[in-house]
Parts: sequence; structure tokens; C-alpha cells
Amino acid sequence: MPHKSRWTIPIPDCSLPTFLFTSAAHTEPTTLANKPAYLDAGKPDTDFLTRRTFKVWSQRFACGLTRMPGFKRGERVLVFSGNNLAFAVAFMGILMAGGIFTAANPTFVPRELANQLKDSEACYLLCSEASLDTALEAAKMANLPTDRIRYFDTDILFRNGVEKSSKNGIQYWGPIFASESEGEKYQWPELKGKDEAKETVLALNYSSGTTGVPKGVMVTHRNYVSNCLQHQHLSTLYPDAAARRERSKWLCFLPLYHAMGQTIYLSGGIMRQTPVYIMAKFDFVELLENIQKFRITDLAMVPPIAVMIAKHPIVKKYDLSSIESIGSGAAPLGSEASREVEKIFNGRMNLKQGWGMTEVTCSLLGWDPTQYSESFAVGEPNANCEAKIMAVHEDSKGQQSFSEITERGPEHRGELWCRGPNVMKGYWRNEQATRNTFSPDNERWLRTGDVAYVDKHGHFFIVDRIKELIKVKGNQVAPAELEALILDHKHIADVAVIGIQTPDGDEKPRAFCVKQPGSEDKVTEQDVIDFVSDKVVRYKRLTAGCEFVDAIPKNPSGKILRRQLRDMYTKRQKAK
Ligand code: AMP
Repeated sequence: MPHKSRWTIPIPDCSLPTFLFTSAAHTEPTTLANKPAYLDAGKPDTDFLTRRTFKVWSQRFACGLTRMPGFKRGERVLVFSGNNLAFAVAFMGILMAGGIFTAANPTFVPRELANQLKDSEACYLLCSEASLDTALEAAKMANLPTDRIRYFDTDILFRNGVEKSSKNGIQYWGPIFASESEGEKYQWPELKGKDEAKETVLALNYSSGTTGVPKGVMVTHRNYVSNCLQHQHLSTLYPDAAARRERSKWLCFLPLYHAMGQTIYLSGGIMRQTPVYIMAKFDFVELLENIQKFRITDLAMVPPIAVMIAKHPIVKKYDLSSIESIGSGAAPLGSEASREVEKIFNGRMNLKQGWGMTEVTCSLLGWDPTQYSESFAVGEPNANCEAKIMAVHEDSKGQQSFSEITERGPEHRGELWCRGPNVMKGYWRNEQATRNTFSPDNERWLRTGDVAYVDKHGHFFIVDRIKELIKVKGNQVAPAELEALILDHKHIADVAVIGIQTPDGDEKPRAFCVKQPGSEDKVTEQDVIDFVSDKVVRYKRLTAGCEFVDAIPKNPSGKILRRQLRDMYTKRQKAK
């Protein structure tokens, strides 16, 4: 039987802005409305938005955007920037305008950004000044006219900077904003009609899913509202939930372009009335300084940061006594590392892991905070969700069939399937990938590609991955993308890329290549590594190397047998 959540919570049918901003706190000049919502961690005294000013700036942007040529409801706007308060206004403004938000990693090279521009067919590109050159080159590759790019920063919010000179021929985003009075009157689509919130897409967050190249995950307003409420629901289980909420302060150092940063901070913070200090980028020492300075109470992180907290000697120099909870997700974190982190906090805090993927908005398995986690379990299904473990059988022709695993415990592993109101609508303009990702029985089970088991308490453990995805420091690397790139090399006939585990639990991409006949002495491993390095963002580089093989192992339908390559590599390493 599927593992059904212990909890059911009501989920309103409305748009995300309606859900977040219909409380009196946003419309009345009350203390709450004037409470800081977003603060620039570098300049918190001057550069901050209250709940009310955040709403009005977002409305002003939304109102202006609806008048821009080429924009109408359902159009995509791509944000290409590191973290800042303008990012938060752009996100909310795009949604309020009825648009679809999509964002790209600010360290992408032009080719990667162009791919997302082309796939999403974004009608506008908003980018930070630092990203202008990449944005211009990518726009050219994607045939996006220069007048559809705007550079953006927080000057308009804090330094009266509506008009700024153009840079490299790109205009400032300031003139898009409507006046304050127009903005205040602007009403965003409420989506209160039957199934409107369920059907209307809010964001395209890119993920390669179980196979292939990155695809736009269609996250709907209902998905987002559900996931925010599910997170909030877990926090209400604390015995002192109200007092906790009152004193909580968050620090955002996760990237806002990723589903995790976006859901937790760009919506969760506003919903929970929690001030969010936004860091422009991740810097470990600054992170520690900020925790101490602002008395941060809760941290959401990815495993490499947890490992740094556990191991870095500098941590002991800082007063981290304000921290009450730490959550980790996006990649596996071993029990040992979790306990090491807890030692830093003298055992007064229990590190808990959650599980999620872009396709479930942010997360679907999490912990009841009143329970103690002593292992690497990722908790149980969120409110209104279900999860189950499935055996995947494959016949000699590669045809798959499935059966549910009902026994519990580590020896009964299988693919994790889940469903709930936060599970995506599907992949953007890719029906085939959508069909392959959902269960064939039309019951809307999402096949996650993760291998898991459940213990006798109903807690889930993620133990492996059967999908192609490689995760490097929490970032997605799609082997199919690297393989397509490497195949462009004139001396390479075939290739497979896999992830190699590092001793601290991270992964690194490695390529296995077959040379073209006659190219035997024309290409070296280093040539292939360099060829890739020039064309991808740093974390996608072949940092676990490249090797030449005679043939790539494949099943009869041509699917690469990645496990065989992984086993061969591991066996060889062990023999060394
Ligand atoms: P993303 O869509 O970028 O969030 O990546 C989702 C994938 O990250 C999942 O399908 C898992 O493979 C992996 N992942 C997320 N959380 C965990 C976790 N707590 N433990 C192990 N793997 C995880």
C-alpha cells in the first residue's frame, strides 16, 4: 500500500500572489506590514523591503510589464542574475503580471543561457549588469532582439534610480515600472475559478528529470501554494510554534534561480512573515558572520555546506547559538556528517534531511520536527502527499513493467514514486517526457528515478539513483547534455558520461569516449576535457576525467548501461 501522509490540510484555490498578499497585514499600515521582509545582508539598514513595500514594488513592476510590447499573460520572462532584492521583485512582479517566471544559473555560459531562452521562448530577459555580456551573446544565439533585454539592479528600489543610462546598448529596467499610485491599484489575476490555479503555470524551473537534457518543469500556482503550506504545516508541529515564528530570521545563500531557494525564500518567507537576509552569493566566512550578526534561527542548506560546517576550523570562532534548526536537501548527506554538524551546536539541534526534486516544486518528504532523526532518513510524505516504493522490471527489449514493494526495510529497495498537489503539471512542450515520467496507469504517480526504502516507522531513505542525473554540489548535471556536446568533437564517435562519487559524498562527471575510426592518435583525454570546459559552466566540467574505451555498453534498445560503466570504474579503483 502507498504510504499516505498522516496529515491533510486545506489548500485554497487561488494564485500565489493572492495567497500571499490577501492578509490585512499587506493592505493596512500595521506593524506587520512594515516589518522587514527582505534585507540585503550586505546593507540591511538601507536596502530592505517591508512586506508592504515588497508588494507595492512588485505591483508596480507587474502593471508596467503588462504594457510592454510582446508581453501578455502566459508569456515567459527569464531572469539571469545572482541573488538580490531586485530578483525578489522581478519574481513576484512577473507572477502578478500573469507571466511565467523562469531563471537561469548566473554563471551559465552563453550557449547554456541561449538553450533556455530558446526552449522557454522568453519574451524578455532581465539580467544583472555583471551578466550583460553573456546575456547579449545568448540573446543573439536565440534570436531575441536587444530591445527585449533589460539590465536590473536595486537602485530603483533604494536610490531613486528610475532612469539610468543604457549599457552595451541595453536599457535599464526602471522605466518599466508603473507609478506608485498605479501600482497600488493594480490587481493581479486571482485565479479563483475552478481549476484555474491548478492549470495555470507560474514557473519553468529547468531539470533533466530522469533522462535527457534539461526541460522546463511546469510548476503551477496550486503546486506552489501547496508546497508553501506543506512546509508551513511541518513548522506548526513544534510545541512552541507561535513563539518560534515570532523570533525566526532566515539567511538566504541558496541560489534563487533554483526551486529550493525560490520556494523557501521567495514565497515561504512572505507567507511565514519571516525576515529573509539575502546574500549576493555564497561565501562561507560571510555566511558565518551573518549568522552571528543577525542572530539567524534557521538554515536550509545543501550537503557540501553542511560538511564545511562540520569540518572547517573557522566555524569555532563564531557565535552560532541563535541557530534552532538546520535542514539539508538536494543531494545525499551521510549520518556521520549530520552528527558532526550537530556536535558544533553541542547537540542542542537535530539536523534533518528532506527530499525533493524540481518536479515536486521543492520537496515532498520531510520530517515531523518533534521526532528525532538519527540516520540519513529524509522523513515521511508531506501533508496531502503519498509515496511508494516500486520494483522496475525490464525485459530483453528494454520494455518496463512495475510492481509495488510492500515489505519494509533496507533489503527492499526500489524506485520512489510519489504524488500530491505539489507535483508538477508536466514538462514544457514535451509530452513524451511528461508521459514517460508519470506512471503508465494514469494515476499521476511521479517516477522519481531515485532508489529508496522505508523503515518500520514509515521513514524514507534515499540510497541510490537509477536516473541519469549527476549532482555536483547540489547542482544538476545532465549527462545527455555533455554527451551531445562531446559528440560534436570531430574525433569522437560515441560517448557516455556518468557521475563518480567523491569520498565526501559529492559527485564529479567522467566521460567514456570511443574514438572515430582513423582518429586513434589525433585526440587525447585532455583534449576532450578542455573541449567541454570551454562550453559549460564550471560545475559541469569533466572533473573526474575522461577515458577512451572500445565501445559503450548499451541495451538492445540502445540505452546506455551506465551502471556497467560505474561498476567497471569502481572495481578498477578498488583494485588499485
Ligand atoms: P533537483 O531537481 O535539482 O532538486 O534534484 C533532485 C534530485 O536530487 C533528487 O531526485 C535526488 O536524486 C537528489 N536529492 C534531493 N534530495 C536528496 C536527499 N535528501 N538525499 C539524496 N538525494 C537527494
